[in-house]
Amino acid sequence: MNAKERITYLTNILNQYNYEYYVLDNPTVTDLEYDSLMKELESLEKAYPELVLDNTPTKRVGDFLKLSLDTITHKSQMMSLANAFSYDELREFDSRIEKTIGEKPSYTCELKIDGIASTVHYEKGLLVLGATRGNGVTGENITKNMLTINVLPKVLKDHLDLEVRGEVYMSKKVFDELNDQRLHEGLEPFANPRNAAGGSLRQLDASITKERKLDHFAYTLVNPENYDIHSQSKVMEFLKNQGFNVNPYYKKCSSIEEVIEYIEYFKDERKNLPYETDGIVIKVDDLDLYEEIGYTVKVPKWAIAYKFPAEVAVTKLRDIIFTVGRTGKIIPNAVMDPVIISGSTVSRATLNNEDFIVERDIRVGDYVKVRKAGEIIPEVVEVDFSRRDENNPVFQMITTCPICGEELVRRASEAAHYCVNPECGGKILEQIIHYASRVAMDIDGLGEKQLETFYDLGYVKDIADIYELKNYRYELTKLDGMGDLRVSNLLNAIEESKKNTLDKFIFGLGIRFIGAKASKNLAKRYHSIDELKEVKLEELLMIPDIGTVMAESIIEYFQNSKNLSLIERLKELGVNPKLEEKEEKIQIFEGKTIVLTGKLEKFTREEATLLIESLGGRASSSVTKKTTFVVAGSDAGSKKQKAIDLGIPILTEDEFLDMTK
Ligand code: NAD
Repeated sequence: MNAKERITYLTNILNQYNYEYYVLDNPTVTDLEYDSLMKELESLEKAYPELVLDNTPTKRVGDFLKLSLDTITHKSQMMSLANAFSYDELREFDSRIEKTIGEKPSYTCELKIDGIASTVHYEKGLLVLGATRGNGVTGENITKNMLTINVLPKVLKDHLDLEVRGEVYMSKKVFDELNDQRLHEGLEPFANPRNAAGGSLRQLDASITKERKLDHFAYTLVNPENYDIHSQSKVMEFLKNQGFNVNPYYKKCSSIEEVIEYIEYFKDERKNLPYETDGIVIKVDDLDLYEEIGYTVKVPKWAIAYKFPAEVAVTKLRDIIFTVGRTGKIIPNAVMDPVIISGSTVSRATLNNEDFIVERDIRVGDYVKVRKAGEIIPEVVEVDFSRRDENNPVFQMITTCPICGEELVRRASEAAHYCVNPECGGKILEQIIHYASRVAMDIDGLGEKQLETFYDLGYVKDIADIYELKNYRYELTKLDGMGDLRVSNLLNAIEESKKNTLDKFIFGLGIRFIGAKASKNLAKRYHSIDELKEVKLEELLMIPDIGTVMAESIIEYFQNSKNLSLIERLKELGVNPKLEEKEEKIQIFEGKTIVLTGKLEKFTREEATLLIESLGGRASSSVTKKTTFVVAGSDAGSKKQKAIDLGIPILTEDEFLDMTK
């Protein structure tokens, strides 16, 4: 691959990972893999500036906004932070700053809380607005959600106009409780507290946010000069004084070596804290130097985030085996001599994909470093080349599916190989296991082990066969550990699952990129699988949380005749879930785009938006030809005028309310 191809590849793959991380709340690679690809792209772009693409992720802060939330424009940009992974990089950072300002700087060290960046505005001491970072320029309006956070002051000590930025996070305890509860309810657990905080904060229904018991630490004051504050350590004192929760462990350090001592202390101590931290943020303490030190388009140059290394152990790589995921994705796995990392024994680790192995020249027989961070599955990081036996064979990616032998396909924009044979056993078995699993159709007694046995015996060859297992009642009772009672219970559970809700069924079908949450949103809108299969791409894009990648995947799924016949067979067998009568609401605003403008008296903006969405409509902030009607309160200005110009109906609040009755 030449530099141009590599830059294009890295740009595409990192944008895809951003989408999975920020929109789907479901990363498919570890942060380490993401960060190392990002570093490679940054250095290639530096060497070949003429090849930098317009959509490069190196120049943008996590870029995705939820369509269904109102947006606000930040008064000053909310930036990300540059990363450092070694003390040498911190020393280089220190030298660069010294060079710019001509003296040794002091720093403030703060724990890097692993949560969601947010901002809150106060007028005369009252909380009036809360927003996410979004793409740094535009964020989502989450005022209602921020108001549910207990530790965040709603009224300041003084009657000030302030903008304060900080981190919304979920404590480890709340996270564990939430995941236990989700598992109990058959919902997919969150991968880590950060994803859980993100998912909880950006809810349309703020009462859900409230239940999630989020926390907050404040660390940035916008325009501190207005309050005659000139250092970051004073900012922290000021914020504490105004009633904010400020992390108590911040420390002013007079040299970079003192910063390193601070990091050394917290690299172990952080494990005892009740919240997740993924590093230390180091900021020049003297705020008056910030303009001089400056900014890039994405990060300030006066701060850096040191990222803690994950726990690493060395072990011998015995084999590389390949598994087939339910979407056909081929995943290379390391089989290693067992080793203890972060308190648990590890003998398998992911090798992500072909590029990952080739770039690190990982070979069977090597001693490899393996790491485990937070909830993420273990990952092979690199080879210990000092112990390499040159006879170890160079890695060769397989070209055919390890299960069915079909030629593998590598899509242009993806690093992974796929088995595209819809009848591939490995993929089908994974699909069946997913369908029956607790997070999908939740069929009691039909776990991975049983399904593997039934698949090997040829009793269950696809999802629909589950409902024909009753034809094998006698054979089942003869299997090890089964017996009459267990078989009866199993067959009853299978019959019962026919009454499951539509969202569980959609999720169970295993459509690529469609998780439990998206399935719920689809079920609310489409009421039956027959309605969903006729849907058009544009319609899907109007649904909260459904982005282009997901919408295209749904369309692709229902264009495949094999999937359509599977659904037909399921229907014939009595599985055709519909939205329950009691859940059903008349969707009078289905497919309609409604704009709210002016001062509303009967409800708040958020309430009106929720009402529109609960009746199937979409609330938009701009008037276009596609707007169905505008609801205008008093003092409505340019939007009302634009609606008049375009001939779009304008309703009063009362007329709008009458419609909803
Ligand atoms: P970041 O998390 O590396 O650092 C910036 C953020 O740190 C700020 O926005 C703020 O929210 C937070 N922060 C916490 N404590 C702070 C403090 N005391 N002072 C200032 N800021 C503080 O940057 P990011 O842009 O939010 O996320 C990028 C990172 O996310 C990547 O480096 C990667 O690790 C991860 N990521 C992973 C994937 C994946 O697929 N695995 C995809 C995208 C991003």
